[in-house]
Amino acid sequence: MFRLKWIAALSVLLFSTLACVTLFGEEPASVGKESEGGTPPTPAASEEAASCPGIASQIVEANTPVDSPGDGAGDFAFEEDEAIYLVTYAVHGNEIRDPVYGEVEAELQDEQDDTGAHRVVWDYFTALIPLESRPTLAEFSIMTDGQDNTLAAVAQTYDDPYRWGLEVDIADTGDYDYLTFTLVHEFAHLFTLAPDQVPPSLAIFNNPDDNDIYLDEISACSTFFPGEGCSNPDSYINAFYDQFWTDIYDEWNEINLIEDEDEYYDALDAFYYKYEDQFLTDYSVTHPAEDIAEAFGFFIFAEQPGGDSIAEQKILFFYQYPELVELRGEILANTCAIFPE
Ligand SMILES: [Zn+2]
Repeated sequence: MFRLKWIAALSVLLFSTLACVTLFGEEPASVGKESEGGTPPTPAASEEAASCPGIASQIVEANTPVDSPGDGAGDFAFEEDEAIYLVTYAVHGNEIRDPVYGEVEAELQDEQDDTGAHRVVWDYFTALIPLESRPTLAEFSIMTDGQDNTLAAVAQTYDDPYRWGLEVDIADTGDYDYLTFTLVHEFAHLFTLAPDQVPPSLAIFNNPDDNDIYLDEISACSTFFPGEGCSNPDSYINAFYDQFWTDIYDEWNEINLIEDEDEYYDALDAFYYKYEDQFLTDYSVTHPAEDIAEAFGFFIFAEQPGGDSIAEQKILFFYQYPELVELRGEILANTCAIFPE
């Protein structure tokens, strides 16, 4: 699991990646070598407004934590293997081109060469998420940290803070319940952290190791500061933060600043169980930006809830934005059309 210290921390990992670790303790996903776990998706969604409550609820169920309070010790305690980048493609609309290959050991050569498997994942993502909703996406990488751990992540590109890259672990792509939810989660990062929502700080981007600059930028920001820059007052992420995080942020941030890994994960675990009715998944507590991305996944795939808990209110949050309700319909219809039987 990535340890996200990209907020208000002296040991800021800039150029850090927003990771998704939705595979805690689950049975291993399929190997991904031959991508036999997935039927190649059809390129376009069905024209009729598709509805497939069975598939949507299956995705929700697979991504809902099953732990009850007290048995969650060590939820966050596993070692993160370093990600190895197999290939990075340039994104042009729905196309990927110009592969740049990383140096890999012989045992990963087959995975690196399997362009078809890379395209299955890319085509699935593009069939799921409407093209006009992902204007900042400029790169697509295939990486691996072995099975489980990180399934996918997004980050600003290396040389342009206004453009973003999506990376997917090819070893974790066999389970479409996780893959579908996680790709939607990553997409949530893309649009909630887009430059029109969170204008990137060039000072931070150009001085990634300078903690003074980072702290200056935070103190100059009167809205939520997700790490890349100061969020616009009317941005989705700032509204989400205002509604759900102001009461718990200081307590959470003290945990986030803990240097010792074991102590950090233990404290985060305890924080999750203390406020479990506020969070849709255990991963949501790792950062407000992860919380909104997880909530967006539930907004897409879960039925509209009553709002009895704060966790449910996080799903309802998105219904106040007509453009997101419309997007929900599109992504659901796309899911129904392409989800492998
Ligand atoms: Zn994430």
